Amino acid sequence: MAQDTGRSPLATAQAQLATAVEILGYEEGMHRMLATPRREMNVAVPLRRDSGEIELFQGYRVQHNISRGPGKGGLRYSASVDADEVRALAMWMTWKCAVVDVPYGGAKGGVTIDPKQYSTAELERVTRRFTSEIMPIIGPERDIMAPDIGTDEQTMAWVMDTYSVNLGYTIPAVTTGKPLQVGGSLGRATATSRGVVHSAQAALADAGVQLSEVTAAVQGFGKVGSHAARFLHEAGARVVAVSDELGGVHAPDGLDVNALLRHVAATGTVTGFADGDPIDNDALLALDVDVLVPAAVEGVLDEESAGRVKARWVVEGANGPTTTAGDRVLADRGVVVVPDILANAGGVVVSYFEWVQANQAYWWTEKEIAERLEHRMLTAYQAVAATARAEGITLRDAALTIGVRRVAEAHQIRGLYP
Ligand code: GLU
Repeated sequence: MAQDTGRSPLATAQAQLATAVEILGYEEGMHRMLATPRREMNVAVPLRRDSGEIELFQGYRVQHNISRGPGKGGLRYSASVDADEVRALAMWMTWKCAVVDVPYGGAKGGVTIDPKQYSTAELERVTRRFTSEIMPIIGPERDIMAPDIGTDEQTMAWVMDTYSVNLGYTIPAVTTGKPLQVGGSLGRATATSRGVVHSAQAALADAGVQLSEVTAAVQGFGKVGSHAARFLHEAGARVVAVSDELGGVHAPDGLDVNALLRHVAATGTVTGFADGDPIDNDALLALDVDVLVPAAVEGVLDEESAGRVKARWVVEGANGPTTTAGDRVLADRGVVVVPDILANAGGVVVSYFEWVQANQAYWWTEKEIAERLEHRMLTAYQAVAATARAEGITLRDAALTIGVRRVAEAHQIRGLYP
């Protein structure tokens, strides 16, 4: 089957980097260094199923860049994970960590498994085996994992435990996004969503608009989308539609987000919620709303779907939801895109706080975390917006330029060895 390379996450990530390199005027050697993962480990992950049968999965950990600090990034469990997707996600982590100025490089992991098809005990065995296979390249000073699609706090506890048991003592800082009981941070579970709402608020404010005046649609109702919908609702925005992988609900007068959260807790999906009409994921993108938050997967806003977007602001909760062609269409149509590497960076910001707390063995209050997160997000937003204004470029190109430049400067200042 012919591959639509324009929609592949790696093609998008590489095209974004090429644009930033062009704006920054870097030479080809630097471009290649920034485009190429520093280190990759591909592993086979065998699982003995509860039935006794053996199944084999592919596992990946890509450390795209470690020039500003340890690799940092999530671990994804999905049937569609492949090496190129993980490479793209790792590259985005590098720029994201640099944009919000946390002292990390960028990394990402993935296992080609649909977690919904496996028992908790099976997922634990897969996680422990994957962790033990990649042990040589991870660690609190080397590469720190966090949850992503298909993984959660429990997954991070298993990773931390496997790593710690092998070394003979407890090392909480090897993962972030852990349960509170084993060194997780207050505020981590909702941090990405809070960051999405902080950056939405800041982008709206640049146009003299407040969240309480807008309508919003959120695609994806997982770790990012569900809390983003809730915080938008709490800030006074009218959330008129949300969706998950099974479909969506639409209520032009606004959804009762708290009732919807109860429905999801009971049924596992937003579909079937009584106080709204069904809507599919594609139609949600084209709704006549002010703010669209794609918070699901990569590549949903391509040339065609971007042409149907009516929102004035797109705030990217997901990683890579907009393709290069989609981006061009949105820019041409005057849609303001708050890019993923800025908008969804709240998660890794509080991951950083969690790692700092674990390293110090001293825990901060929820208020301290919320204030520091907001400060970092708004500082990063203001720097990106100022660059965009000064250079006459989009917020995405400004964020990429800032992130890529910080990484390139680290390379230049460190020099090449030997
Ligand atoms: N998976 C999240 C992301 O894509 C969080 C990464 C982290 O906290 O390390 O940003």
